Amino acid sequence: MKQEVRVRFAPSPTGPFHIGGARSALFNWLLARKCGGKFVLRIEDTDLERSKREWEENIKAALQWLGMDWDEGIDIGGDHGPYRQTERLDIYRKYTEQLLAEGKAYPCYCTEEELDAERQEQLARGETPRYTGRCRSLTPEGRKALEAEGRKSTVRFHVPENRQIVFNDLVRGTVSFESNGVGDFVIVKSDGIPVYNYAVVLDDALMGITHVIRAEEHLSNTPRQIVLFEALGLPVPEFGHISLILGKDRSKMSKRHGATSVDQYRQLGYLPEALVNFLALLGWSPAGDQEIFSLSELVEQFSLDRVAKNPAVFDVDKLNFINAHYLRQIGPERLTAMALPHLVAAGYVEEPLPPEKEAWLIQVVAAVTEYVSYAAQIPEHAAVFFREEVKFENDEAREVLCDPDIPRVMAAFREKLSALDTVDETAVQGVLKSIVKELKVGGKKVYMPIRAAITGQVHGPDLLKLIVLIGRERVLARIDASLKAL
Ligand code: GLU
Repeated sequence: MKQEVRVRFAPSPTGPFHIGGARSALFNWLLARKCGGKFVLRIEDTDLERSKREWEENIKAALQWLGMDWDEGIDIGGDHGPYRQTERLDIYRKYTEQLLAEGKAYPCYCTEEELDAERQEQLARGETPRYTGRCRSLTPEGRKALEAEGRKSTVRFHVPENRQIVFNDLVRGTVSFESNGVGDFVIVKSDGIPVYNYAVVLDDALMGITHVIRAEEHLSNTPRQIVLFEALGLPVPEFGHISLILGKDRSKMSKRHGATSVDQYRQLGYLPEALVNFLALLGWSPAGDQEIFSLSELVEQFSLDRVAKNPAVFDVDKLNFINAHYLRQIGPERLTAMALPHLVAAGYVEEPLPPEKEAWLIQVVAAVTEYVSYAAQIPEHAAVFFREEVKFENDEAREVLCDPDIPRVMAAFREKLSALDTVDETAVQGVLKSIVKELKVGGKKVYMPIRAAITGQVHGPDLLKLIVLIGRERVLARIDASLKAL
């Protein structure tokens, strides 16, 4: 029988959930869903200082928002729990005792200062610094003597000498390391807390993880983990290291390149379906040239052999293109809800919105949707609906109002608009058409100047919508003010 695929996402809750983490989670999730396997969410919180529950919540909320559900893990439990490393310390202790008893690990009494001095000497000799194995040869008496001095000990793993550690990385192909280059490393700190490289091995093995798909930055940890799996007599999973995410300038993606956390994108008004679509394409390439994928299409088409080993470039223009595509589909109600905090921040509306104002706002948002890529851009494009003071965008906007025909056009518009019973798009359309006809001027001399007088711009949302949504009184007042300001 084929073994069930079991993958995991194992974030350290030490900061806002980064888009790189979201991509790792997504590739694991897609693999699990594609193979009918299990996706496990484990929290790696052994860095007691930096790990915070608040960040764990942030990660969970982001995964849920993106639509990645987990089959086992924190909150929901499962057969291989607990799923938070700080709740697994007894488990790690048991295996540490086993390694110590078998002589595969040993207590190390070296102080930070001693280790540092050793490192400096090695560097001065032009060697790659690594632990010399000094405490490995201590006798039981020697250990006692050091303990009597009051020294604390860590537990160090004895890395087998002269070995080639070779594995087939599912993304990068054959990868090989010399065990001599690794050096005995600490697996449990003096406070009894295991280090990442050790806890991760026990967890992956005991949770039955079959595939470890994670960021490239962990590639150099993998040989350490493999020798630990072997020493513990536990099955070694398959590994796949996905490449770094670079900014457009090809340096490592950082705050300099803009928003880096999932939450920032959510707040800016990106849609989860767009972000997931975009993240999937950061390293994975589909067989054809399709760019828009629903989650279920991704599940169907995703495969690790189409994940590239060269770095993925975070192209925000592409994200905007994808998000714009999804924004056009969600309908103005949902987009208005997304834009609302930004419209409030711009001072355009106040919460709570009276129902009438909400209905109006939804129409305003609908009128500008085609100009935006994400919801935070709405206030900028909707400003003309809120700001009474008309500022001419450029000379072109001013010039269209200087034509000698304009006073006649505007007077006719004022008169006809004022005479309407109901100001709706059809009625306004009728007004504009009748001006063209009666005054025998080109449409350009009517539509463009009215737009410029109302908004200060020569481009923008549909003129009929502008007039109806801004409303007769405000339209006329703006026209008067603009003509005076010329
Ligand atoms: N806690 C590690 C991290 O967040 C997990 C690495 C791994 O997937 O093994 O980077």
